[in-house]
Amino acid sequence: MKRTIIIDGYECNGCGSCVEICPEVFVLEEGEDVPSLRDPNAEITDKVEEAAAYCPQKCISFN
Ligand code: SF4
Repeated sequence: MKRTIIIDGYECNGCGSCVEICPEVFVLEEGEDVPSLRDPNAEITDKVEEAAAYCPQKCISFN
């Protein structure tokens, strides 16, 4: 089954690192504290995994 990307909005500190590393998938909308996914079914690319690895809160996961 295809895995999806989860952002834990409670743990996220809004640092924006994921958006910097992988703007194709993560976006910080105007006025929002927590990034969201441009596409909830976005593919888990190497960049997405890199963003998850560098997330200081470790709040990007896959299921
Ligand atoms: S890298 Fe992690 S803590 Fe930083 S904005 Fe993205 S999800 Fe939030």
